[in-house]
Amino acid sequence: PAPAPARHLFSDPAEVEALRGSLLAWYDRCRRDLPWRTLAATEPDADRRAYAVWVSEIMLQQTQVATVIDYYNRWMQKWPTLQALAQASLEEVNELWSGLGYYSRGKRLQEAARKVVSELAGRMPRTAGDLQKLLPGVGRYTAGAIASISYGQATGVVDGNVIRVLCRLRCIGADSSSPAVIDRLWDMANALVDRSRPGDFNQALMELGAMVCVPKAPLCGECPVKQHCQARRRKLLGKPAAVPDVEDCGVGGCPLCPPATEPWDSSLGVTNFPRKAAKKQPRVARTATCVLERRGCHGALEYFIVQRPSSGLLAGLWEFPSLPLAQGLQEEKQRELLADHLQAWTGQPVVARSLRFIGEVIHIFSHIHQTYVVYSLPLDGDVTLDPALSPSRWVTEEEFHASAVSTAMKKV
Ligand code: SF4
Repeated sequence: PAPAPARHLFSDPAEVEALRGSLLAWYDRCRRDLPWRTLAATEPDADRRAYAVWVSEIMLQQTQVATVIDYYNRWMQKWPTLQALAQASLEEVNELWSGLGYYSRGKRLQEAARKVVSELAGRMPRTAGDLQKLLPGVGRYTAGAIASISYGQATGVVDGNVIRVLCRLRCIGADSSSPAVIDRLWDMANALVDRSRPGDFNQALMELGAMVCVPKAPLCGECPVKQHCQARRRKLLGKPAAVPDVEDCGVGGCPLCPPATEPWDSSLGVTNFPRKAAKKQPRVARTATCVLERRGCHGALEYFIVQRPSSGLLAGLWEFPSLPLAQGLQEEKQRELLADHLQAWTGQPVVARSLRFIGEVIHIFSHIHQTYVVYSLPLDGDVTLDPALSPSRWVTEEEFHASAVSTAMKKV
């Protein structure tokens, strides 16, 4: 690729030093106390630090900090070391992960722990390159976070927060999800990272994005690096000068400037950056699902749940018997198909008319707009479960909530 124009780089070593200093000083003063940070700062054993950072980073992918704290604490209480995690079953992992979403994260975390124990003699890889190469589910970002925070490797990280901060600091308005821009941001993060406190520097940059340089209304007045911020400078300049700015990249052709078709919009200020290509629309899907219920031997209501296949969406989780529906299917046909499906599970005839329509539940997965069409059916007498089918069982409401079920099924 063509070299990046100077205005998009951190080419002045004195400025880089000043930026590192201001950011770290702010982080020391203002950082939030989070359980994994406390552990990473106090635990003398580097592999234990790495395990804590790893668990927290995997949980934090796609999930808010406030939600993660409780899951993280329970996880570390149950499996305080990766040796303990390696001995857990997938069922236990899914149960603890229940409600956190993106279930393959927990599964791969556990697979990776097993790999460290069985193939790497219980020792974590110690560089970002090895972590990414050797551990399933550990991508470039997580590898950089573990290596810098736990092992002190001077390597950068790029996540959503860092993308936003760097794009604003350097007026990067090209599509920030494009591989060309992402590569540039990684180069930038690796060049910027503080050599003596890499873990703190990376966390500081992410913390800045989470607390100050936030997506919609960044607090530029309070920002510790505002004097290094090109977006803020551009905003303060107001209208573009009649004479072109000497630092402008020229008309068109710059791989990092906003495209000529969508130039700087002064009403947006610093939130002109970053920019993303329009997201793909999620796929629309409909699924019929039925809550089968019966009176258990102690009189309490029980519900029938079945286990999903061990790969694919929501792998290994439990759900009410469900059936994907073709688009535009008539209600009557839906019921018939669901009745046939239930018959296979229960081994007894199910009359379509006896299914009671309860309502619809919408759940948005990252790439699927899913509607569950929910029915219920009370059953009398015992139901013989067919061992040839996937695992299935009857649970009370309490057991249901303690099982490895997805948030979507809890809504149902
Ligand atoms: Fe973000 Fe504003 Fe700070 Fe620039 S000055 S880095 S836009 S908070």
